Order: sequence, then C-alpha cells, then structure tokens
Amino acid sequence: MVPEQTITFRVKILNMISSKTSFIALIGNPVSHSLSPIIQNAALQYLGLDLIYIAVPCKDEDLELVLNSFKRINCKGLNITIPHKEKIFNLCSEISPIANKLKAINTLKLNSENEWSATNTDVEGFIYPLKNLKLAKKKSIVLGSGGAARSVIQGLINLNLSTISVISRNKSSLDELRKNFENQIELQSFLNNDNKAQNLIEEADLVVNTTPVGMKTAKNEMNLLPYGDHFWRSLNSKTIVYDLIYNPTPTHLLKFSANKGCMTIDGLQMLVAQGIKSLSFWTDGLEVPFHVMNDALKNHL
Ligand code: NAP
Repeated sequence: MVPEQTITFRVKILNMISSKTSFIALIGNPVSHSLSPIIQNAALQYLGLDLIYIAVPCKDEDLELVLNSFKRINCKGLNITIPHKEKIFNLCSEISPIANKLKAINTLKLNSENEWSATNTDVEGFIYPLKNLKLAKKKSIVLGSGGAARSVIQGLINLNLSTISVISRNKSSLDELRKNFENQIELQSFLNNDNKAQNLIEEADLVVNTTPVGMKTAKNEMNLLPYGDHFWRSLNSKTIVYDLIYNPTPTHLLKFSANKGCMTIDGLQMLVAQGIKSLSFWTDGLEVPFHVMNDALKNHL
C-alpha cells in the first residue's frame, strides 16, 4: 500500500503541473533509488516555480540521443548520476573550472545558445557534513575511483587532510586519478587486494565509500561490504566512516561500522547540500533553505 504522506506529496506535485510547466531531469541507470525528485520538487514548490523534477533511466548507448532530445523540449536542467558522470563530458559545450578539473559532471543547464553548460556540485555537497569535524592533517581513505571519488578527493584536499589513499579494484582509473591530482597532492593508490590496505584501515581517521556496494537497486545485494568482510577486519572505533550511498540509510557498511563504535555519516546531507547548489545553478542563483529539502526527505523516509 502507498503511504499517506507519499499520496499527499504526489497530489501536491500533480497540482504543480500545467500545460506550461517545464522540467528538470535526473539521468542515470539505475535511477529508481534516487531521492532527488523528493528534495527538488519540495524546493521547486517552496520557490513557487512552474517546474517539476523527474528521474529518467537512460542506458549508456542512449545518452547522446536523450541529451539531444531534451534540448528540443521543455527541459531546464539535468542532474547526471551513475554511470554517466564522466561520459557526459563530450556532450557539453561549456564546462565549469571545477567540473573540468575533476573530469566529473553532475549538473547541466542549457546556455543562451541552447547548448549544455555543465558543473559539479558534489564537492560542496560532500564537505557539508564534515565542516565542523576538525579533519585537517588527519588520514583518509577513499574507496572507489569513479566520478564521485574525484569530488571526494577534491573535498578532502579542501579540508586539508594530510594523507589521501585511494583503494579501488580498477587499476586504470586509479592511475588516471593520480595523474588528475598530481599538481595538488600525492595520492597513494592501492588495489583492494593489496596487503597494505589493512594498515591503512587500522590507521585511518576517515574512510569514505564511493563504490555503489550496498546501494538499493533491483539487482544489488544490499547486505554486502565494499571489497568483502575480510577487507574490514582492522577497522576500529576511532575511524569515521562516511558512505555516500543514501538509499538505504544506514547502509550495511554504516551498521557494521556503528557496531564497531565508529562515528558514521550517511549520504543524505551530501544529497541535500549538492541539491541546493544544483538548484541554484539551474535558477541562476535562487537559494532554498537546507531544512526545506531535509524536511521533505524526513517525511518521505
Ligand atoms: P562511478 O563513476 O560508476 O564509480 C563507481 C566506483 O565504484 C568505480 O571505481 C567502480 O569500479 C567501483 N565499483 C563499482 N561496483 C563495484 C563493486 N561491486 N565492488 C567494488 N567497486 C565497485 O559512480 P559514482 O558516480 O562515482 O557514484 C558512486 C556512488 O556514490 C553511487 O552509489 C552514488 O549513488 C553515490 N553518490 C552519492 C551522492 C550523494 O549526494 N550522497 C553523490 C554522488 C554519488 P569500476 O570502475 O571497476 O567499475
């Protein structure tokens, strides 16, 4: 049965739609887990804009077709999620310095020439829950080497952490990451089956999971830990564990870490903080208070 609050929310959204209504879309595969429609529609309603936000599943091979089609209809902006954040690059004609540097895009809008202009709001989103934790000079580990990992590494550099080690199953993307940041910081990079990973986990002040392991999708097994249980055997209570995944919340990793006595951070605050920045990009600077999106999430979950 559909919960009453979901029905109320859907009725509110239906009331927002007229024959002039434009839309903003999330494009990815999968997108069914996403909570962005919940937070963005609450914010659009708060701002009184004639806009709605929808999630559109899109396969790799359809990405170009979908972007070109959206240019011709009433689309005012896009969010891009897994697995397109890097591939989208070739389809944009204007790219902000931060997205260019990170080689990762999560937000697009059409410019005055009706071409896609892109940016990345994940760095600011990622930093938001860490701002008051005094992490300068501390040791960190990033799991995964995809699009979100780049934003996380930039965020950790901005917060002045002393060591950033990246652990991934993918050697070529690890090498690319190292090259990407070589002018800013010397990243340590390891494959997940490297024995050194245990010492790193034992000494880390912060571990950030940017892999999708544990995420709720039709085919994902949710009660798995990234790189398997054995990988986590030396985790101890002094480490903060931050999982970018926000559905489910907490993830299996965060439950496991909380049981070990660790402080844990889920992906919800990042979701809201990056969502606020994306909305501001689409609307040329309109701001919405954090609580508007956050309350919508709390009512939904
Ligand atoms: P991505 O570009 O596809 O990168 C995913 C990374 O995880 C890659 O390094 C990939 O390795 C690795 N990986 C995938 N499946 C794995 C597995 N089964 N075991 C080990 N490693 C695996 O994706 P992304 O855009 O970085 O997003 C990653 C996650 O962050 C997603 O769950 C996304 O929802 C979440 N996220 C959350 C927020 C938020 O606001 N909270 C924002 C951004 C992203 P390969 O290259 O070998 O596949």
